[in-house]
Amino acid sequence: MKDLTPPFRSLKGKDPFALFKNVETPSFILDEKALEYDGKILKDVEEKSGARILLAQKAFSNYDLYPLLSNYVYGTEASGLYEARLGKEEMPDKEVHVFSAAYREEEFEEILKVADHIVFNSISQLKKYGEKAKGKGKSIGLRVNPEFSTQVGHDIYNPCAPGSRLGVTEKNFVEGMTPELLSLLDGLHFHTLCQQNSDDLEKTFDVVEKKFSPYFSSLKWINFGGGHHITRDDYDRERLISLVKRVRNTYGLEVYLEPGEAVVLNAGYLLTKVLDTFDNGNTHIAILDTSAACHMPDVLEMPYRPPLYGADLEGNEVTIRLGSQTCLSGDVIGDYRFKEPLKEGDYLLFGDMALYTTCKTNTFNGMPLPSLYLLHKDDTLEKLASFGYEDFKYRLGRSKKE
Ligand SMILES: *Cc1c(COP(=O)(O)O)cnc(C)c1O
Repeated sequence: MKDLTPPFRSLKGKDPFALFKNVETPSFILDEKALEYDGKILKDVEEKSGARILLAQKAFSNYDLYPLLSNYVYGTEASGLYEARLGKEEMPDKEVHVFSAAYREEEFEEILKVADHIVFNSISQLKKYGEKAKGKGKSIGLRVNPEFSTQVGHDIYNPCAPGSRLGVTEKNFVEGMTPELLSLLDGLHFHTLCQQNSDDLEKTFDVVEKKFSPYFSSLKWINFGGGHHITRDDYDRERLISLVKRVRNTYGLEVYLEPGEAVVLNAGYLLTKVLDTFDNGNTHIAILDTSAACHMPDVLEMPYRPPLYGADLEGNEVTIRLGSQTCLSGDVIGDYRFKEPLKEGDYLLFGDMALYTTCKTNTFNGMPLPSLYLLHKDDTLEKLASFGYEDFKYRLGRSKKE
């Protein structure tokens, strides 16, 4: 069984099921070699373009890998206090950036302690906190909404969909911006992409430029947000590099990028076991000890069908629906083609399982959380963490500890 598509290419020449034979299921296995592969591409883009690349922690926050990632990224990006604190604690020598749709008063003091860049989502939040943050030496940004969407289909990931709450529109910017507020601003931020290429970024920047470049002269930086699939094979990195260079040269602005997915693309696996198989009418079914709803919720939210090692290859003619132990009818990972029917005890390996997985798990239905492993470059496996009944229970009520 050979599968060297990008999600599995760093397993080239290895038998993953032999490699993982002592790993309990379900487990996420992060792949050091694949992480380095992505990191080197990002570093190259930084060196050639002058861009500063941040890890968007909402996509990946397995902090045991932060020392490795810190070789390649300029800092971390956070969606609020907890992620900002994590970035500060686990990548202490790097910049900490935070953006939140609104900040709570009781968390803002602590945000001031850990964050270097603070990005606001509205003129009113800038008014409320801007001066204070500036007084503490923070770099202040405002998220703008160019109202220009290059995404089609899934509006759940489209910050420029009509009625979006994310970013200040041109109208609100022009009406609300005063010279005092403008003097607080060090940068502008936009985030409108999702798994996209640099041509879409270019088109988006053109709109941002038309609407907001009159304000660029007093700024120090611009942040292009995330959604750049920089490490994907067909990503046009030359186009990204020339855009970043153009912006830096034309406006004298530092350019930040904050991809999540691209930092850990294809850099992890989910190992699971078949618990049962049966036919229901015309459908072959296998029940796995993992769950889309609990362990890879984007499979249902996005939705998408994750790659599976050795499945869907030429000559695979047995279609099997892979479902979970839970009682949610729709908790199905997908239909896959196999060479032969699956049987109880078979192991399966999903690919591209580092992004939006380990940081999105939950224990719905009392499902256990997968263990976390790291596959080192020399093929040794390190267990990072495992979880049990307590992790399910004490999120739901009084803990005996008090
Ligand atoms: C989600 C998000 C990112 C990261 O997006 P990816 O699609 O994972 O690259 C970066 N910045 C902001 C503001 C985000 O909301």
